[in-house]
Amino acid sequence: MTRILIGVWCAWILLAKAGDLLGDEPQPMDYAIVIHGGAGDDPAELSEEARVARTTALREALELGVEVLKGGGTSLDAVEKVIRHLEDEPQFNAGRGAVFNADGGHELDASIMDGRDRACGAVAGVRTVKNPISLARLVMTKTRHVLLASEGADRFAKEMGVELVPQDYFSTPFQRERLNRAKQAENSAKTDAHMGTVGCAALDRHGNLAAGTSTGGLTNKRFGRIGDSPIIGAGTYADNTTCAVSCTGVGELFIRNAIAYDISARMAYQNASLEDAVAHVIQKTLPKDSGGVIAVDRHGKIVMDFNTAGMARAAADSQGRFTVSLSAKE
Ligand code: ASP
Repeated sequence: MTRILIGVWCAWILLAKAGDLLGDEPQPMDYAIVIHGGAGDDPAELSEEARVARTTALREALELGVEVLKGGGTSLDAVEKVIRHLEDEPQFNAGRGAVFNADGGHELDASIMDGRDRACGAVAGVRTVKNPISLARLVMTKTRHVLLASEGADRFAKEMGVELVPQDYFSTPFQRERLNRAKQAENSAKTDAHMGTVGCAALDRHGNLAAGTSTGGLTNKRFGRIGDSPIIGAGTYADNTTCAVSCTGVGELFIRNAIAYDISARMAYQNASLEDAVAHVIQKTLPKDSGGVIAVDRHGKIVMDFNTAGMARAAADSQGRFTVSLSAKE
């Protein structure tokens, strides 16, 4: 009798497993992660070398994030790790490759948010911090504030013992060339295409969402200008009941329209899907050529949308998705 029962039990397990493998039952998403490396330029206009470098950096960053999430790590850790990696890559406008402001200097912005309790931290206009995303996280965990700016943020960095660098650490020939072009075009209507801000949103195995964004801002920006990336609700937002969002584009427009929060609010108040909420802000709220959004909802659904020629992006999840792309929408 016992043998029969064990036999039936084994057969039942095998059938259930086979059903899973054949996809009878939609499996809940264990984890999901999405990354952007900035919206703007048509990737076809980039050199082959730049395209390969960006694609490789995005793939490596995605692998790092997946490793954290697969191992049961938190979405916050995945977001910070991914963004730190991209901040160290010179081809993105964040950390090492930050754009020049109009004075020929660099001021960096970053923010991070925890979807569990909407805890968040941000830094704006920092000038000496190698990895602004980690300083933003320290603002969240070590102070009672949300946003520290300029000298105060740099002083906090020193107190926290994070890695400091001289301004010329951030000066790359690529960005100097962009500043020169932007200066020449100053009196014409043409603006330099924004590109290279980085961001990440993730869902972990514990059901927690997190998002973060890091940038050097806009080329040739006024000294002291702060964009949307360090503004919670504009460039970054995360709430376990809705979604995690990171934005890229013309920061002033994202601030005016509280884009990241608006996506979450549409889901909370209107019961909109993540896809519809993002499509609304990209197609209706924002003017054409102003930027893009990456987001993940609490079920692990990933959305990447933009109204520019291209957006560098990458996504992976526990069901085997792993994609990297720079181009226009597939
Ligand atoms: N949103 C950033 C800013 O306005 C720039 C970008 O995403 O390219 O500072």
